[in-house]
Amino acid sequence: MASIRTRITVSYALAFAATMFAFSAVVWAERRAVAFDDLRKSAANVADLGIRMLRLSGVGSEAMTIDTTSLTGRELTPRFKTSLDVLPGYVLIADSAHVLYLSPLVSSLGDKDQTQLSSASFKLQNGADSVITLDSARLELLLVARAERASASSPVRWVVAGVPTAPLDVAGAQVLFLALVVAPLILLISAGTAWTLAGRMLQPIEQMVNDVEAISDGRSLHRRIPVEDLGDEFGRLGTTLNAMISRLETSFAALRRFTADASHELKTPLTVLRADIERAMTTAQGSTDQLVALEEGLQETARMADLVESLLTLARADEGRFDLHREPVEMEPLVRDVAETANILGEAAGLRVSMPALQSITVLGDRTRLRQLFLNLVTNAIKYTAKGGAVELTLEATDGAAVFTVKDTGIGIAGADLPFIFDRFWRVDRVRSRGGERGGVGLGLAISQWIAQAHGGSINVSSRLGRGSSFAVTIPALPSVDS
Ligand code: ADP
Repeated sequence: MASIRTRITVSYALAFAATMFAFSAVVWAERRAVAFDDLRKSAANVADLGIRMLRLSGVGSEAMTIDTTSLTGRELTPRFKTSLDVLPGYVLIADSAHVLYLSPLVSSLGDKDQTQLSSASFKLQNGADSVITLDSARLELLLVARAERASASSPVRWVVAGVPTAPLDVAGAQVLFLALVVAPLILLISAGTAWTLAGRMLQPIEQMVNDVEAISDGRSLHRRIPVEDLGDEFGRLGTTLNAMISRLETSFAALRRFTADASHELKTPLTVLRADIERAMTTAQGSTDQLVALEEGLQETARMADLVESLLTLARADEGRFDLHREPVEMEPLVRDVAETANILGEAAGLRVSMPALQSITVLGDRTRLRQLFLNLVTNAIKYTAKGGAVELTLEATDGAAVFTVKDTGIGIAGADLPFIFDRFWRVDRVRSRGGERGGVGLGLAISQWIAQAHGGSINVSSRLGRGSSFAVTIPALPSVDS
């Protein structure tokens, strides 16, 4: 495929050539029409002049005008002939049936041409014109006829004047010269100009391609394409590319962070597991120490299995490979079920779990995933609330949506941390939360948010440090059949 520059130049040259051709054709036709008109006028002038001369020299009675003794039997008398010979061009004078006079130029033609000319002349109407080609003389003539006023006494009826049409060819040839010699030259110059201009116009694109090539090697994503004029198309292209590079940079960074975090989170339990196994191997068979080491190892394995399961869930969600088994889900029984688990966990943690408001509402969703989402929020609330605190669950039907809220009186989240809590592996206090009784890895909320969004819903958080948090999940409700 030819470069854009070549395509622009070729298109321009073609368009220009077509315009030139059309222009030349119009000029050619116009020039010929004007030249033809001029010829017609000059022939008509000669014919008029002939008629006037005949009148002035007294074309009267037939006896005075016609010489019947001539070779042809009927001719104008020599007196008339001599005075008419001054008329320029090809002139023919006739009565209704005979040729009475032929100008010297006509007389110089061959017999065949003379016959052709006189028969064409007799066919002409008064004032009409006609173009004839005399074959032997290779001559094209424009004939114009003028009729003498019909009078009984005057034998002369027709004066036909002819002029060669050669000037028409000259006019055509001039235009043809312009079209064949000057036009290609202009075309060449303008194609060259188009080539140069296109090169200059496309130069920023060339520069941009080089810049993007340099940036997209993967290590220079922090660089941006210089944008000179924000208003023009190149400026907009540059801005769009910069925005794209910026998004790429963010996602590459997130990917790198995710891989590093995942490796780190897997490395820690593996180290612990290894130490446990070593301890179990070095202690006496069946001793309490060995059992403790093995139980710890088991716990680490379970923790790792959970982590890998969460990573798998998110990876599949990212790829869009996770099918939700959507069905009408009644929220009330689901929330009651979650509340039961919350009660057991809350009791163990010394918390009051209450469920003041439950409204019945149905959504279209995946029951298992919704349960996982609600349990994530409930376990977080219990995990991050100190003994003696309270956790409250509500289910409301508002504006065509089901809103499930988990409110706690726990440690709360600082305003500055709120924007990050849905990020993968993000924890308010990474060091403290791992290993202790709050041993999360920071994937729970990321998964919860994905589940809510996959249902067309969202999660809203409001929290105050030291006062507690409130997580509200909104899921669009299934329109009821009777409404
Ligand atoms: P984790 O497994 O660490 O709980 P999550 O993704 O569920 O991971 O939560 C991310 C972080 O958000 C937690 O580490 C915690 O710091 C904060 N967080 C989540 N829920 C609450 C809550 N109810 N109260 C206080 N902090 C919370």
